Amino acid sequence: MSKLPFILEQDVPLARLTTLGVGGPARYMARVDDEAAVGAALAWAQARQLAVHIIGGGSNLLVADSGVDGLVLRYERASLAFERDGETTRVTAAAGLSWDALVERAVMAGLAGIECLSGIPGDVGAAPIQNIGAYGQEVAETLTAVSVVERSTGKHLRLAADECGFGYRTSLFKTRWRDRHVVIGIELALGSETHGSLRYRDLIERFARDVARGGGGQADAAPTLAAVRDAVLEIRRQKSMVLSPEDPNRRSAGSFFTNPVVTVQAADAADEVSAAGKVAAMPRFPLEDGRVKLSAGWLIEAAGFPRGTTRGRVGLSSRHALALINRGDASAAEVVSFASEIRARVRDRFGVTLVPEPAFLGFDEEAEQVLDVDVASNRRA
Ligand SMILES: Cc1cc2nc3c(=O)[nH]c(=O)nc-3n(C[C@H](O)[C@H](O)[C@H](O)COP(=O)(O)OP(=O)(O)OC[C@H]3O[C@@H](n4cnc5c(N)ncnc54)[C@H](O)[C@@H]3O)c2cc1C
Repeated sequence: MSKLPFILEQDVPLARLTTLGVGGPARYMARVDDEAAVGAALAWAQARQLAVHIIGGGSNLLVADSGVDGLVLRYERASLAFERDGETTRVTAAAGLSWDALVERAVMAGLAGIECLSGIPGDVGAAPIQNIGAYGQEVAETLTAVSVVERSTGKHLRLAADECGFGYRTSLFKTRWRDRHVVIGIELALGSETHGSLRYRDLIERFARDVARGGGGQADAAPTLAAVRDAVLEIRRQKSMVLSPEDPNRRSAGSFFTNPVVTVQAADAADEVSAAGKVAAMPRFPLEDGRVKLSAGWLIEAAGFPRGTTRGRVGLSSRHALALINRGDASAAEVVSFASEIRARVRDRFGVTLVPEPAFLGFDEEAEQVLDVDVASNRRA
């Protein structure tokens, strides 16, 4: 297959392109690195009536064992530019850049606003899809625009961040606009504060311990951006939440479920169950809209799945109850089966339904019924 403005491969095993490491091959895969090539790859697929699926670093994906019958497209341009404008710096990053490379470069350049998002795997292009977040920051706080190619027209659009409907681990890209765009870049406005953001309990405690030990900090000195990045990476490593080839918990998609957001009544009902079961107090985080965010990890452990629980070739990370792991040669079906067992037991015990966080690729209606995921867009066009 020659003279195409993109690299086209056939029968590409996808398991090795995902962090979970499960799933079958893509019938076709196109690797593109500019806007024109995106349009050409979309047109190529349309001419053959193939469904198109976009992947980045594969760290939030569960691919079906049967693979993906269509074209899998990956945008690989990885450029990065900083443009100073007074106290703010405009950062323009292409979708194929590694997210953590962007954070590292920003912190090194003294730019504030994404230091707590250190160590999140994957590429820049996926960051707006679920509005990545960690340790008290989320990308929507500093994101100003998302550059996309509209899939139906091949047109380049620049979407202002406030059009994109960002919320906790969600955006319109994941819901109403699902499968409408290929993200080719993002713009951020980063600040020039020299200290890092400290909003999250684990981070605050980590620096408080440092001060108490007399090591590295003063009680009244806010930690630098670099110190916050290092601390986040250290905490994430302890939870197996950075990718490391030596870590036995490394084959995961990060958190498999989002933290459920429920009504006060539903939270009270779950609380009553936990009190009756004499388990430790259930964490609850009141939100501005009156609802309550619960901890999915806590619910999973309280429902009887301690960290390190195994089911054959799959299990829970020994350091994080929210991460389902492939213990070696697992199938996607085994991951789905364990996830549905967890979900059913949490629902039976606490009346709370956990929602999977990763995107599902290549699944059929059966999996949809098991986990209530919308896989309609994964079917052939
Ligand atoms: C160990 C570990 C820790 C993690 N920790 C966190 C965390 O702290 N916070 C957090 O929010 N997430 C976390 N994640 C999840 C994941 O890293 C993020 O969701 C990340 O943004 C996914 O990026 P990716 O490039 O790997 O996307 P992929 O997994 O390849 O794709 C994810 C989704 O984005 C879509 N997508 C990807 N690229 C594009 C594009 N260019 N255009 C349009 N759609 C696109 C895909 O179609 C898919 O729906 C973690 C994952 C792992 C494995």
